[in-house]
Amino acid sequence: MSPAWLEPEIARLRGAYAAGRLPHALLIHEAPGAGGEWLAGWVARLVLCTSPREGAPCGHCAACQRAAQEQHPDLTVIRPVETSTQIRIEQVRELAAELTLTAHQGGYKVGILSPADSMNRFAANALLKTLEEPPQATLLILVASQPSRLPPTILSRCQRVRVRAPQQADAVAWLEAARGAGDWERVLAVLGMAPMTAAAADPAAVVEVAAEVRHGLEEAAEGGGDPVATAERWARSELPLRLACVENWLTERIRGRLVGHAVFTEVRAGTHLRGHGDSLDLRQLFGLLDTVRELKSSFDAPINRGLALESLLRALGTRGA
Ligand SMILES: [Zn+2]
Repeated sequence: MSPAWLEPEIARLRGAYAAGRLPHALLIHEAPGAGGEWLAGWVARLVLCTSPREGAPCGHCAACQRAAQEQHPDLTVIRPVETSTQIRIEQVRELAAELTLTAHQGGYKVGILSPADSMNRFAANALLKTLEEPPQATLLILVASQPSRLPPTILSRCQRVRVRAPQQADAVAWLEAARGAGDWERVLAVLGMAPMTAAAADPAAVVEVAAEVRHGLEEAAEGGGDPVATAERWARSELPLRLACVENWLTERIRGRLVGHAVFTEVRAGTHLRGHGDSLDLRQLFGLLDTVRELKSSFDAPINRGLALESLLRALGTRGA
């Protein structure tokens, strides 16, 4: 089942392909976890499918099935390797060499780079050569949630496709079809409107971790708990998920504080503010939010996450001005 929120882009791409107007390079600019890579795979199947064009991608032919498993000889998918967070120049060179070969199937050769904004400068330069002089019948698909990190010379050579975060109802419907029943509303509230990220997660575990983090934060905000033990535990397991939970919690508190000053009242935020609404001021909350976001973006940096979390928990418990 294709995600409902991608239908407009799917229709546009199908039309372009039928009219022979598909460009050599697409940049799929996605909201994080909203399905950019899914759409890239769909486009690959669209051009590799051996059924008549109007029915492509059929999903049944050998080409569709091989492409879906990333086993098609005319499809190359590049991602950061293992623990690396970057796509490296050697990977791009291999892709470029592959694209110059004759297609096994006699049609398109497709290269997908995901996330393309994880290319380092050298890799991006290497890709530029292919983008400037694309071999016949090649299609490069770049998937990125932060395309501004790519050089303008790359961006200007790609046709942009926008994938926005879905409405919750569409995301939940798709998750139920893909993964079965689960508390997907709560999972999406924790992970953000990122159904593809949610699909790869264990919904029960996400809900459990979120509840535990919430409890730890409430406790710390009351000046209680054991910041050292809590920080060590959080740093050891499910850290990215926990940081997302901390970020959400802080954002809710900031929103609650802002709403308190506005004419509007928001019942949802009120439940988390009960009892300790005055402990931290807005500036401190924003400061903590910056700290969390820094931690989130520095997974491969050699910093002591346990210590950073501990000071964050302690800061929550201190009384502000
Ligand atoms: Zn097919």
